Amino acid sequence: MTDASRSEELFERARQLMPGGVNSPVRAFGSVGGTPRMMVSGKGAYLTDADGREYVDLVCSWGPALLGHAHPAVLEAVHSAVDRGLSFGASTPAESELAALVVGRVSAVERLRMVSTGTEATMTAVRLARGYTGRNLIVKFAGCYHGHLDGLLAAAGSGVATLALPGSAGVTEATAAETLVLPYNDITAVEEVFAARGSQIAAVITEAAPANMGVVTPADGFNAALSRITREHGALLILDEVLTGFRTGYAGYWGLTGGAVGAADPFVPDLLTFGKVIGGGMPVAALGGRADVMDYLAPVGPVYQAGTLSGNPIAMAAGVATLTAATPDVYTAIDSRSRELQDALSAALSEAGVDHSIQTAGNLFSVAFGTSANGVRNYADAQAQEAFRYAPFFHAMLDAGVYLPPSVFEAWFLSAAHDDAAMDKIFAALPAAARAAAAA
Ligand code: PMP
Repeated sequence: MTDASRSEELFERARQLMPGGVNSPVRAFGSVGGTPRMMVSGKGAYLTDADGREYVDLVCSWGPALLGHAHPAVLEAVHSAVDRGLSFGASTPAESELAALVVGRVSAVERLRMVSTGTEATMTAVRLARGYTGRNLIVKFAGCYHGHLDGLLAAAGSGVATLALPGSAGVTEATAAETLVLPYNDITAVEEVFAARGSQIAAVITEAAPANMGVVTPADGFNAALSRITREHGALLILDEVLTGFRTGYAGYWGLTGGAVGAADPFVPDLLTFGKVIGGGMPVAALGGRADVMDYLAPVGPVYQAGTLSGNPIAMAAGVATLTAATPDVYTAIDSRSRELQDALSAALSEAGVDHSIQTAGNLFSVAFGTSANGVRNYADAQAQEAFRYAPFFHAMLDAGVYLPPSVFEAWFLSAAHDDAAMDKIFAALPAAARAAAAA
């Protein structure tokens, strides 16, 4: 393992001061072992750690860095906003600018409310769905992660999956009982639960494409069927695009699939949640959707939601600059880099004799080991994979200067700044990492 002396010192200090040394669990390298690298700067496709080592970054801040780190246009917008003051607690023109960009890209969004984290966006969407329908129950899918709100931690993906937790301590039974957890990609299960309890269900919430149990491709027509079933029963469909929004395409995963012109299974979600790319690396998230539903939010409607720093002017400036720079060409470039990397990864693993599947949803992908027979269709498949092959693979890549997500249950993120030099560094690292996975 690489000498990470400065990172080790800094992480040891962090462990004295913060639970697990981190402010978000997956950063602690729990499932891959070793010392987390303390990062001190990022530029384009690269991160630099406290020991001065440079890594090609395939985490991209878990999605936000669509344009690469420290993109000049985003930095310039932020610097210029900073000069005008940090926060006013009053409305600013930039909020409408960012909202207009979202509404212009995602036609299902008629109104938008800005918040600061994806968790707040989904939490508000759930409260809004309950307030609008007057019903209590929420349907979610095992392996989908929607943030750390109490009601949606059951059978959650992301760090909950990485740590192999069934849910979270501290969530009351009463709260957990209001969430019905179903297997992903199983429309029969959805039909059955609605047949039994449809009049009590406020909403189905689903990741537009799951990317927190590794990536899972929604079966053809799955999201459209959720839309049809919720509508038939007077419930709402909340499409969580916190991770996929403005990353898998110009109008998110919905824009690639059910919302695309000429879609095979067209549908319109009632509410959508956004985060990550919408703020370009600053704390921005949002929920949006049908005007009649969104207008149930205070001050127009009876569902309360607020935030001291919501719509923060610096964060809005970063979001506006990011979405403005994220033209269709940016997505074409990331799509093709993603395909190149998927091919190289799969070839290296095959060459080393490692059984695997590459799981995709648009330009998002992840690798799953020992899954070539059926791929990963749901959380049970994800959990059944040979996850132990990931740690040696991850460390071989890290030693070669490639920073992967420190968990097999996370997607790999590319950016528009991943040029030939960055890709070549990744390609060069793959064969040895694949052999390390084979030897596990
Ligand atoms: N929904 C999805 C689909 C996510 O991937 C995440 C975070 N990875 C969230 C919600 C929560 O967002 P945040 O971490 O900003 O609270």
